[in-house]
Amino acid sequence: MQNKINLIISQLGELRVKKDIDLRDYVQFNNDKKASAIFIATSVSELSKAVSLCKELHVPYIVIGSGSKVVFKDPMFLGLVIKNRSQNLKIFGIKGQVSRAGIGIREAFIEADSGVILSDLFMFSDKQGLKGFDDLKTSKGTVGGSVFSNLSLIEKLTQIIVLDSQGSEKIRDSSDLSNQDVILRAIFHLKAKEV
Ligand SMILES: Cc1cc2nc3c(=O)[nH]c(=O)nc-3n(C[C@H](O)[C@H](O)[C@H](O)COP(=O)(O)OP(=O)(O)OC[C@H]3O[C@@H](n4cnc5c(N)ncnc54)[C@H](O)[C@@H]3O)c2cc1C
Repeated sequence: MQNKINLIISQLGELRVKKDIDLRDYVQFNNDKKASAIFIATSVSELSKAVSLCKELHVPYIVIGSGSKVVFKDPMFLGLVIKNRSQNLKIFGIKGQVSRAGIGIREAFIEADSGVILSDLFMFSDKQGLKGFDDLKTSKGTVGGSVFSNLSLIEKLTQIIVLDSQGSEKIRDSSDLSNQDVILRAIFHLKAKEV
């Protein structure tokens, strides 16, 4: 295992992978647990690269977001913990009407990286004049850790871009999501506050 972890370090960068780590700094409920190594992915491409490397080398891995719902079974996780801090958020498309008053946006699509914190997703959408994510205002979970269970997200999901069990990028909707998928990005459809 150590040789494989060293191979991963050589690919992801010596300064980016921490070895023999205490999980208490990264997850909520695992105070006395440890892991062989952790990599903090700051973008979706880093997340994909880390997962693909683990698959290629047959190294066990787990992707975590905020770590509020992860429980490790064994005292030592022999593998790579991938902490997802990808954070891009953007307006993907808008629908509206042009009138004398200007362009009135009626609805929009937001694309969020899976590491985006839900309260940031609320703030971004609110700032854009969009409604529907008010109940995420204080949520500390990430998009990737919540798309399987958070109804408010699921209702507005149009597409989920995942890395499937074979390591290929696929577009899914919430009905065909597999628990083998690594969530990379999600696209949500929201209505404007005033239409
Ligand atoms: C006190 C408390 C209250 C809660 N209240 C609610 C609530 O009201 N509504 C609700 O829906 N949930 C609730 N939860 C559950 C949990 O906090 C949320 O689901 C949260 O949003 C999980 O996000 P996270 O980033 O912390 O996920 P994590 O805990 O980091 O991960 C959760 C699971 O998702 C997996 N995962 C994480 N990221 C990815 C990814 N990119 N791709 C694939 N798998 C991934 C992890 O491997 C793990 O299995 C609550 C939890 C606690 C502790």
